[in-house]
Amino acid sequence: MSFKHKKKYGQNFLTDQDEVLAKIMEVSGVSPEDEIIEIGPGEGALTGLLLEEAAKVTCIEIDTDLEKILRKKYGQNEKFNLVMGDVLDVNIGELINNNAKVVANIPYYITSPIINKIIDNRDKITEMYIMVQKEVAERVCADSGKERSVLTLAVEYYGEAEYLFTIPKAFFTPMPKVDSAFMSIKFYQDKRYESRITEEVFFKYVKAAFSNKRKNIVNNLATLGYSKDEVRAIIAQLNISENERAENLTIEEFIKLAEICENK
Ligand code: SAM
Repeated sequence: MSFKHKKKYGQNFLTDQDEVLAKIMEVSGVSPEDEIIEIGPGEGALTGLLLEEAAKVTCIEIDTDLEKILRKKYGQNEKFNLVMGDVLDVNIGELINNNAKVVANIPYYITSPIINKIIDNRDKITEMYIMVQKEVAERVCADSGKERSVLTLAVEYYGEAEYLFTIPKAFFTPMPKVDSAFMSIKFYQDKRYESRITEEVFFKYVKAAFSNKRKNIVNNLATLGYSKDEVRAIIAQLNISENERAENLTIEEFIKLAEICENK
């Protein structure tokens, strides 16, 4: 009996998509030293290729109906480690050594929690290569303009994001409503922004700056308790116009802004 896909688990598989799978392998550059985490292996379309290249592949899958299928296909392979459970409950740090990579076609209904969870494990994970909704990849990887949001800055603070390629919805089984994109995030090993400013302070200013999309930066930052004149004086030091909007500020400008405000 063939497998019945479950909508509640975001099951859109890359069944018989050799070209897309080969492209995923090519851009993620998996090598024989790599330890891989695959979130949501499904029926194992990508898993087989990962097992061919990597030193170890740990798969985390929630759907117990897929366990038999996966164990039958790869259970004999000593590089294969299957963990059944919800990725958001699993202690990823316990499953891997250092310098692991995530390579996965993730379930889209929990995209942000998964990205956040991987960021939280960045001491052991150096890079992530994930399939997400095209629109999410565009937002995360936006250099400037309207698509930038708190999510963009949240990723930029920890690493470098790159939009790798688009995959039309017709490539998935069953076909989802939206197109997808494959993207990467490589964590900064030198902690270039984390070493300058704490997470707490950084997000305080980023969240305030984006708090009302229709308002300019002066009005939004004033919600932190500064007078508008104080904010104007601070952003003038950074050559930022008072009509500017948060989406047009670079991460460097945000860090400098927070440094000035905190040292006042
Ligand atoms: N990698 C497979 C492929 O490309 O054909 C399947 C990808 S499908 C988009 C997402 C997979 O994540 C499904 O196998 C689904 O059962 C699994 N999944 C959904 N929610 C999950 C969760 N909370 N924890 C772990 N796996 C989950």
